[in-house]
Amino acid sequence: SLSNINANRYQSEVQYRFCGKTGLLLPQLSLGLWHNFGEVDDAQEALKMLSFAFDHGITHFDLANNYGTPFGSAEKNFGHILKKHFAGYRDEMLISTKAGHRMWDGPYGDGGSRKNLMASIDQSLKRMQLDYVDIFYSHRYDENTPIEETMNALSDIVKQGKALYVGISKYPEDKAQEAYKILKQNGTPCTIYQGRYSIFSKEIETEVLPSAEKNGVGFIGFSPLAQGLLSDKYLHGIPEKSRAALSYGFLKKEQITQETILKITQLNALAQKRGQTLAQMALAWCFQKEQVNSVIIGTSSVKQLQDNISALKNLSFSNEELQIIENI
Ligand code: NDP
Repeated sequence: SLSNINANRYQSEVQYRFCGKTGLLLPQLSLGLWHNFGEVDDAQEALKMLSFAFDHGITHFDLANNYGTPFGSAEKNFGHILKKHFAGYRDEMLISTKAGHRMWDGPYGDGGSRKNLMASIDQSLKRMQLDYVDIFYSHRYDENTPIEETMNALSDIVKQGKALYVGISKYPEDKAQEAYKILKQNGTPCTIYQGRYSIFSKEIETEVLPSAEKNGVGFIGFSPLAQGLLSDKYLHGIPEKSRAALSYGFLKKEQITQETILKITQLNALAQKRGQTLAQMALAWCFQKEQVNSVIIGTSSVKQLQDNISALKNLSFSNEELQIIENI
């Protein structure tokens, strides 16, 4: 039965790394619930993926107020599954959520205001049926709100016991520095920066990673497969049910250009030489920088999850291989 938790769950390939200079350990792979866990998705598969993940040492689950179609449904489903199948395991799980993107109608359902963040954390806790989340993020930098207002709201959420740690996501590097400073002054230092990171999106390497490291802040990457582009699935067209084929998927058909197909064809050939799938190689590549403490994967099936965990069996690259990837 699914409620039988694997007693050997901490003996899998998944290792744990400290999140920056904090005492918090992150699994190398974290599971994100942006797609595939909403009301429109297969509830059985969602349960199976969460079980498989937890059974294989993936302790970190990443959510946001607006995940799932419709908004909020990923948190709602996750809360339901937690209560029904993982009762008693809360202390073995690291659960994060976020606020800052459009969530509800009107002037207060979006952005970085105290009004939005305070209401949003309460809504998220209610949907997930939790007393607290482990990490609460400002989901994006909001240029229309003074950064002090957003940071003070995050700090107060921690002081109210609704979150243990705070994080920021997708902040421009200069704003991230300001955020680190304010959060530190408030006595609730920033624990983690969440940013896009994959072979196709390396922007964070130049400024975000060094400045996070300097401030003792951990880094967790999202969309390590560029939403599935960095796999073999789009080599020969757009398969039915793939994220690019779904009307509510965030990967758009227009993103699958001839140029991209050429790149993934070349990357796929290299992956095959390494004895990995392209998805596995793309995940392994993310761990070349030691400041990358974890990457958040998304999966639409248990099989993908299993393949992705196997990526951890081979994380080493020759300089030549890294150069080939760089050139592509
Ligand atoms: P990925 O880049 O890992 O893409 C996941 C998708 O890739 C899957 O849904 C699946 O697509 C495909 N895939 C996964 N594994 C395989 C495999 N082995 N073989 C073939 N295809 C595979 O990550 P996401 O874009 O889903 O993002 C991950 C998480 O990061 C999110 O859930 C969220 O928690 C976080 N995130 C945070 C953001 C932020 O603003 N802070 C923004 C975006 C994401 P398919 O459905 O086609 O099978």
